[in-house]
Amino acid sequence: MTDSPIYLDYASTTPLDPRVFEAMTPYFLEDFGNAASTTHTYGERAAKAVKESRQLIADAINALPEEMHFTSGATEAINLALKGAFFTHGHQKPHIITSQTEHKAVLDTCAYLEEIGAEVTYLPVDTDGLIDLAQLESSIRKDTLLVSIMIANNETGVLQEIKEIGRICHSKGVLFFTDATQAFGKVPIEVLNTSIDMLCFSAHKIYGPKGIGGLYVKKGIQLTPQIHGGGHEFGLRSGTLNVPGIVGLAKATQLCLEDMEETYWRLKNIRDEFESELEIAGKIKVNGKNAPRLPHFSNFQLLNEEAESFILRNRNKIAVAQGSACNSALIQPSHVLKAMGLNDREAENSIRVCWGIIGKNPITISKLFK
Ligand SMILES: *Cc1c(COP(=O)(O)O)cnc(C)c1O
Repeated sequence: MTDSPIYLDYASTTPLDPRVFEAMTPYFLEDFGNAASTTHTYGERAAKAVKESRQLIADAINALPEEMHFTSGATEAINLALKGAFFTHGHQKPHIITSQTEHKAVLDTCAYLEEIGAEVTYLPVDTDGLIDLAQLESSIRKDTLLVSIMIANNETGVLQEIKEIGRICHSKGVLFFTDATQAFGKVPIEVLNTSIDMLCFSAHKIYGPKGIGGLYVKKGIQLTPQIHGGGHEFGLRSGTLNVPGIVGLAKATQLCLEDMEETYWRLKNIRDEFESELEIAGKIKVNGKNAPRLPHFSNFQLLNEEAESFILRNRNKIAVAQGSACNSALIQPSHVLKAMGLNDREAENSIRVCWGIIGKNPITISKLFK
């Protein structure tokens, strides 16, 4: 491990915080009970841990515990939100609005719903990655079921105007789902005084374990379950609960909240210093620069070198992403950057650097750039 490159790909996943690992460990070993099998203390202890975790995560966004549903991650939560709403209401209201820069989990689910009768509007974004609120408002029709717009983009960190978007949706009687996977634990989020009806998140983006996440569903909203078999999670998502995962998600959430402000400014300072040094030297052009962004994200075009050769040349020094991780298996220019007006070459020549709270101090990486 001593020779491993510096990890700067925290938007694709994060290492487990050792304190999260420690909190989870008993639930693999002595407290291994099934949270739904409470005729004995094993199950009771598991059920108690789940209850406390659910309360903690609900409190984190100002929701009620019965509004929180555990899933295998954000992808499943997105599928449940969009398909669940469409299967319940889609025959009267088949129209969905989303944006061109959503995560593939939203875009691919929308494409599937189009195959079975949905009509989807994909809103464009401006050169900084923001949707136009007037265009959103005028896109809402009588038969619009829901709007799905992410809080923070997973390639650029660009933050949409969620409060305004929610207000527009509610003034028109349309459901509002937001993919909060990148924003959760990084910036304050709250559902009580906003018009967010559904919201998803994932533990492995916040120093928790992979394979656990959740969906907030505002009380009173009907969704059709996508996984049947026992009626767990208030009937919405069956399957034996991943107790260690849930405990890990709660611990990771708690730690992020405790340090949120301190982490925000520390990482923002590192990011801003990095960007301004390389911009002044004429080496990079930052994507989404004029929009509000998450503090630990930098997505930029390289001006003096191909992104691919930069990544190869520095493979042993830093681990960064070209485009988004989900696209890199396919090697396609990023759909997010193209929607922001970059051409294929500019998109392919862009790199995402994301700083995090665990690992080596990455302040000196700017000297690696030509
Ligand atoms: C990572 C990510 C997802 C998918 O989350 P998983 O828990 O890995 O399924 C969805 N949306 C965004 C914005 C993400 O960053």
